[in-house]
Amino acid sequence: MPGSGRALRTLLLCAALTAGCGTPARSLPIDAGAVDLRCCTQGEEAVTIQYLGVGGWLFRMGEASLLTAPFFSNPGLFEVGVGRIATDTAMVDRFLPPVSDVEAILVGHAHYDHLMDVPYIARRKAPSARVYGSRTAVNLLQGDPELDPARLVSVEESAGDHASAGEWTYVSGGRIRFMALRSGHAPHFMGIHLYRGQQEEPAQELPDRAWEWLEGTPLAYLVDFLAEDGSVIYRVHYQDAASEAPAGFPPPLDDGIGVDLAILCPPGYEEVDGYPEAVLERLAPRQVFLGHWEDFFRPRTEALRSVPGTDLETFVARMEAVLPPGTDWSMPEPGWVVRISPD
Ligand SMILES: [Zn+2]
Repeated sequence: MPGSGRALRTLLLCAALTAGCGTPARSLPIDAGAVDLRCCTQGEEAVTIQYLGVGGWLFRMGEASLLTAPFFSNPGLFEVGVGRIATDTAMVDRFLPPVSDVEAILVGHAHYDHLMDVPYIARRKAPSARVYGSRTAVNLLQGDPELDPARLVSVEESAGDHASAGEWTYVSGGRIRFMALRSGHAPHFMGIHLYRGQQEEPAQELPDRAWEWLEGTPLAYLVDFLAEDGSVIYRVHYQDAASEAPAGFPPPLDDGIGVDLAILCPPGYEEVDGYPEAVLERLAPRQVFLGHWEDFFRPRTEALRSVPGTDLETFVARMEAVLPPGTDWSMPEPGWVVRISPD
């Protein structure tokens, strides 16, 4: 029974994670509240970014908006290890800001902490959004009979990589475009990489075990916010898993436009070589935000702690050692909002 093997490995993960408990957030340099930043955008329009927790970020520029898959349910280690897991709709209702106008939800990979809350959000909160992700993500979400399959779009086939450009997808009346990039996913601990694999066929129902949310092909995204004339106002590189170079790198685009913001994912960085140094050297971003840093095995209503088993202080030291001069970084608390306007 493949499931029981995975359950055993998950238990091992739980034991390891519990041994390396997270750090209380008060000892970390967390950004909170609402921040105004004069930096990086071109033209007159401001871009507002809200950190929602785990892989979730909400971007707004005027009427245009884009969401990356957020996660609010935070089942405990026991449920993840051996029990059943499901979306906590009360937590989504409480912590997800209004997204009824959002047209696109980007998914980096299909593990439960990135995809499990997406069906409820797509059905009830963002009913006009399409969900973009890997073939595995699309096949898993087809297990929800209430989700119109026409709203599920695989961008795996049109993804680019470090050497060749992928296709741009335009949303929000042409004011936002994104390109998926073939990326990677670091092992979880001690070289053990959980929940790997592809969902080759449409699922008959949504998974209710953590190990059934198969990773699929991990994707990073390049996201451009565009002016009316199509010129780039702000460029973001988004990753929701640590990866080994050159996985997740953008291709040479020859458009002379740099990356304004890199969103990095610390968990697992010790399990691969050169993360985050290599991606930061490639992107040379003007700003860096760290996501997925908080303990998502605890309810959102409890005090923040860092994700167990990840040495964030060392991650930050390694990151700071390679950041270009003048590049600022933030590790925000879920709910944090930053408004970025021209300097
Ligand atoms: Zn994952």
